[in-house]
Amino acid sequence: THFGYQTIDKQDKEKMVAGVFHSVAAKYDIMNDLMSFGVHRLWKRYTIDASAVRPGNKVLDLAGGTGDLTRKFSEIVGEQGQVVLADINDSMIKVGREKLHNQGYVGNIEYVQANAEALPFADNTFDLVTIAFGLRNVTNKDKALASIFRVLKPGGRLLVLEFSKPQQDWLNKAYDFYSFNILPTMGQVIANDKDSYQYLSESIRMHPDQDTLKGMMEEVGFEQVQYTNLTGGIVALHKGFKF
Ligand code: SAM
Repeated sequence: THFGYQTIDKQDKEKMVAGVFHSVAAKYDIMNDLMSFGVHRLWKRYTIDASAVRPGNKVLDLAGGTGDLTRKFSEIVGEQGQVVLADINDSMIKVGREKLHNQGYVGNIEYVQANAEALPFADNTFDLVTIAFGLRNVTNKDKALASIFRVLKPGGRLLVLEFSKPQQDWLNKAYDFYSFNILPTMGQVIANDKDSYQYLSESIRMHPDQDTLKGMMEEVGFEQVQYTNLTGGIVALHKGFKF
């Protein structure tokens, strides 16, 4: 592959992912809208609705990036609640923090630079953890899932929103064409950054499918794990509980 993605070691993958997100941070929001035809907004809306988040809850928006989910959670949890946006990449956090500040979202949001594999929070801290389009970028996903499990309160839940495997053959083929041809070209023309968008396509194809991810969540202790396919399985929302 372009980045030698399958063969690179852990440190190299971390460096490469860091490079990609430093590079795309400034244009991340507009590219998201263009590349998904705005549909990422619906996927995120679905996630918020499925989260059953309540006023007063403590929420971790992991790999929170430019803060789309954080903003919604901040509205719902209110003054008594708290939202922590954690991300490994300071460029993404900076774009997210500035955007939310400018929109008047202050008071119940905290920004933390952290690696999902080693979360700097006490055990049993959060009612809800979300990771949207983040898990596929994490080098050691089992370690990240175990770390999330640790920081959830008993009774808390994890929602993973991530690209997955389209369920129909024709959709799979169309999607392959889109992600390997059209997407990197859009990245080149609009963001002048073909490599980063090529990496994104490749990382999507390498990510575990619906049932594999479900098994990985169960392996670290999550219970009642279920998933919902969105847009024919292009994206899936996994939910699991810590009891
Ligand atoms: N959640 C946001 C959204 O849905 O728009 C941002 C998603 S963006 C595609 C992926 C994010 O994952 C980036 O901001 C990146 O810095 C972050 N990330 C990658 N590896 C990470 C890790 N090991 N720990 C925490 N965040 C990570």
